[in-house]
Amino acid sequence: MDHPTPDAAITSLSALREAEAACTRCPLYRDATRVVPGEGPAHARLMMVGEQPGDQEDLSGRPFVGPAGQVLDRAILEAGIDRKTVFVTNAVKHFKWEPRGKRRLHKKPNAHEIERCRWWNDIERALVRPQLVVALGATAAASLLGRSVTIGRVRGELLTGRDGEPVVVTIHPSYLLRLREKADKEREYARFVADLKACAARLRQAA
Ligand code: SF4
Repeated sequence: MDHPTPDAAITSLSALREAEAACTRCPLYRDATRVVPGEGPAHARLMMVGEQPGDQEDLSGRPFVGPAGQVLDRAILEAGIDRKTVFVTNAVKHFKWEPRGKRRLHKKPNAHEIERCRWWNDIERALVRPQLVVALGATAAASLLGRSVTIGRVRGELLTGRDGEPVVVTIHPSYLLRLREKADKEREYARFVADLKACAARLRQAA
């Protein structure tokens, strides 16, 4: 399996966190509270990549600790995966938002920001060397695959990332939070858990 080449100057996740904290590669660092690095075992077999930190992640400095993270944690558990074994991170490491009254509303990162921030996930993957990368949503898929995809068309397929790595695309858990009807939520949540179960099965086969 191919992996990106690590940056010679960054040889550990702690060095990576320090470098990310000083990043000015795109304008998003200006309005965010802090960078939100990836988190998990240094050599996790499974890496999950989301879009970008949300409001709570921006305040805490940790990925997937807000409402979408809680959905993800529950789905991981129901898929039979030990959450502590998963490296979780985002395609874009700073929170992009716009004010709405006193609230900070999530704003989707643009292609330039995704491209500029890809640098950091490339190094994360080079250091962690996961056997499977799960792209949670379209932004992560674009970053990992180097092209835009329609989630519904590629969902669950084993794809090849830009660096030759196995990538599976599924939804971002925030999608489930946006659904209004209980029946839709339950159906889509079950599909999400099934996607994660299939990823766990792929990893078991690869072991
Ligand atoms: S979003 Fe990524 S590329 Fe942009 S400043 Fe933050 S860490 Fe750097």
